[in-house]
Amino acid sequence: MKTILTGIRSNSVLTLGNYLGALLPMVRLANEHSKDYNVHIFVPDLHSIISDVDGDLRENTIRTLKYWLAAGLELNENIHIYRQSYVPAHSELCWILDCVATMGETSRMIQYKEKSKGQESCNVGIFNYPILMAADILLYDAEFIPLGEDQFQHIELARNLAIRFNNRFNAEIFTVPAKTSDQVKFMEVDTAIRIRDLLNPEKKMSKSTVAEGSKIMLDDAPEKAAKKIMSATTDSLGKVKFDMFNQPGISNLLQIEALVNDLPLSEVVAKWNGETKYGELKKAVAASVSTMLSDFQARLANISDDEVYRLLEAGEVYANKIANAKLLEVQKAFKLR
Ligand code: ATP
Ligand code: MG
Repeated sequence: MKTILTGIRSNSVLTLGNYLGALLPMVRLANEHSKDYNVHIFVPDLHSIISDVDGDLRENTIRTLKYWLAAGLELNENIHIYRQSYVPAHSELCWILDCVATMGETSRMIQYKEKSKGQESCNVGIFNYPILMAADILLYDAEFIPLGEDQFQHIELARNLAIRFNNRFNAEIFTVPAKTSDQVKFMEVDTAIRIRDLLNPEKKMSKSTVAEGSKIMLDDAPEKAAKKIMSATTDSLGKVKFDMFNQPGISNLLQIEALVNDLPLSEVVAKWNGETKYGELKKAVAASVSTMLSDFQARLANISDDEVYRLLEAGEVYANKIANAKLLEVQKAFKLR
């Protein structure tokens, strides 16, 4: 059986953007494929510590796993949930792959350039994390890795390392992950989903943006979220139209309305097209978002820590078994064993 692998960092509470753009599509994909694929959902906690963590990382990890369940992940025996740092083989393989990767290819990573920009002294983890990511993927022979477009270059790096390693030892030790073009086909999602910042809709909504009114957090009280929608920046054109370039604020509201209600964007756009009272659209979106949040939060409150720990216990035994077997093959290839 082929493997799908995915994860989201748990450095803080997630936003509506993370939910609609990442969590929900990944849950759909997992539910759709978990009869025919092994689905690995892991919390990349070692990746978290390359940057600041808001609160207690262990608690954030448990909360993020509850998000997956509250977002509708249907559990079965093919779904494996684990924490990266509980499977030491990730770090070990990372070191070995460090000795396979070149400075040239790693220095070309755009994320590294962006994340290190303006930092007086950037930690080595920011440079090295794409190699850890390659280890996360290659340990489990994962073929499909549903991620945002910003991570495609890292998938290509993992592919190159797998190919180079296999060639060097003249053996098919690693499964080469699918090309990014095939990853996109597999995901069948609009990779262009980018929920915008409510106050500055030219930018995307980000959890690290300081202005409270810019973002809806998954733990916002529904009334508070509704107020943020009512205060969202729009434009002075006075006519609803889906046009991200000229009317990003209004277009963002239409996009949110469609995704939250699981409706095709075209249907929502057709319904509101030409409306001159922006307040009416805002009221509708505010109601949709607050209903979504109260349902989500009610589901979240019903998931106990114990349930998550039980899943982790089983998932981590499984992950260690698979990962250690792969690591041993790699160690043998290098004559470490
Ligand atoms: P940060 O400000 O810390 O970068 P972020 O909100 O951008 O936070 P990430 O941790 O970078 O979140 O990304 C987590 C996942 O959410 C990724 O898959 C990313 O593609 C997706 N994502 C982030 N922001 C949005 C958004 N505004 N709309 C849709 N998807 C998003
Ligand atoms: Mg980001």
